[in-house]
Amino acid sequence: MNQEKPDFKKEAERLFDRMVDTRRDFHKYPEIGFEEIRTSKTVANRLRELGLEVQTGIGQTGVVGLLHGDHEGPVVLLRFDMDALPIPEGNVVDYISRNPGVMHACGHDGHMAMGLALAEIMAERQHQIHGTIKFVFQPAEEGLGGAFAMIADGVLENPRPDVAFAMHLWTPLDYGTVQVTQGPSMSASSIFTLTITGKGGHGAAPHQAVDPILAAAHIVTALQSIVSRNVDPQESVVISVGQMDAGTTYNVIPEKVIIKGTVRSYSNDVHRLLYRRILEMAQNLSTAFHCTAALETVAIVAAVVNDPDAADAVQLAAESVVGRENVINKREMASEDMGYMLEEIPGCYFFIGAGNERRGYNYPHHHPNFDFDERAMIIGVSTMAQAVANYLFKNETSESDLEVLSFSSD
Ligand SMILES: [Zn+2]
Ligand SMILES: [Zn+2]
Repeated sequence: MNQEKPDFKKEAERLFDRMVDTRRDFHKYPEIGFEEIRTSKTVANRLRELGLEVQTGIGQTGVVGLLHGDHEGPVVLLRFDMDALPIPEGNVVDYISRNPGVMHACGHDGHMAMGLALAEIMAERQHQIHGTIKFVFQPAEEGLGGAFAMIADGVLENPRPDVAFAMHLWTPLDYGTVQVTQGPSMSASSIFTLTITGKGGHGAAPHQAVDPILAAAHIVTALQSIVSRNVDPQESVVISVGQMDAGTTYNVIPEKVIIKGTVRSYSNDVHRLLYRRILEMAQNLSTAFHCTAALETVAIVAAVVNDPDAADAVQLAAESVVGRENVINKREMASEDMGYMLEEIPGCYFFIGAGNERRGYNYPHHHPNFDFDERAMIIGVSTMAQAVANYLFKNETSESDLEVLSFSSD
C-alpha cells in the first residue's frame, strides 16, 4: 500500500501533457451556458473511466462525480465551471475554436482539465482518503445561473459537503502566483434599469415638452456621488452605467430614456444602501425636471465570501507549491456564482496566476485574444490537491509513530 506523503506537484507535472490535450480539446469545441452537451459528455465519460460514481443532468448540463475514499470522513466539494462565451476567437492557434462565434475566453477549458487531473490523482489515492470528494462540473457560470440550477437540483445534498473549493485561472496575475484571501473575495453583482419618462416634443420648442435626456444626464452624473458621499470609504463599491437608450433623431425630444448599469459591492447591506440611494437620486432628480423615474433591479450573484479556515488551508497549500512570497492576499471586484454555494457551505475560492506577458498571455478575461500560460494548471492542481489532502488525508507520520510505539511496548 502506497502511504508515502504525496508530492502533488510532481503528480500534476506527470499529468501536464494530458491536461494540455484535454484543455485544448475543450477549447476547440466551446459551448455556451446550459448548452454544454459535448463538454459534459466528455467530462462524464472521463470521470466514469476513473471509477467515480457519476450523475449527469444536475442543473441541466451539470455533472457530478463522487469519489468515495476507503475510510470514513468529511465531504469535500470541488467545483469547476464548463461554459464558454459568445465571443468570436481572435487567436491564431492550432486549437482555435471550431464553433464560430463561441470561445473559451475565460479559461473554463483549463478549469475542466484541472478538475479531471485532480480526479485522476485522487482516484489513484482512494486508499488514503478519509471521506468523500464531490467533483462538481457546473454549467453556465457566465451570468446565467448555473450554480443556482445545480443547487436547485440538490448538488449540496446527498452527501452534503462540509467544505467547498473552487479556483480560477487568472491572467491579471502572473504565472507562478496564487491569490487567496479570507472573507470577501469577489463582489456581489446586480444590474439595474432606470426608466426616465418625460414628454416628447419638437427640439425647437423645449418649453412645450418635458426633456428626459436632460434629467437622465443629471442622474448619471449624480449616481457617482453615491460612491463618494454615501458609502463608508473603507468599503469598495462600483456603480457603472453601461448603456443609455434615448431618442430617434436630432430634433425630437424623446419620451423616455433607459439607463442600464451594474452595481458591485462586497456585502449585501452595502448593496441595499446603494439601491436605496440610486432610487432616491433617480426619483428626486426626475421630479426636479418634471419627469418620473422607475427602477428595476436584477441580482446576478452574491458576494464570494471565503471561510477563514478553508482560506487558511488554501494559503498553506499555495505556500507549499509556489512559496510564501508568491501568495498574494487580495480580493477582486469581479463576480462569480460560486458565491451562492459558499453562502451554504464554508469554503474558499482562489485565483491561479496564469498571465505571462513575454509569452503573449496578457489579455484580460473575455477578450477575443484571451489565452493563458498552461503551466498554471500544474500550480492549480497541486494547490487544490494539497488543500483537499489537509481535510481528507490522515497524517501518516503520526500513524507510523503509533506503530513504533506499539512495537517498542511488546
Ligand atoms: Zn468569465
Ligand atoms: Zn470565468
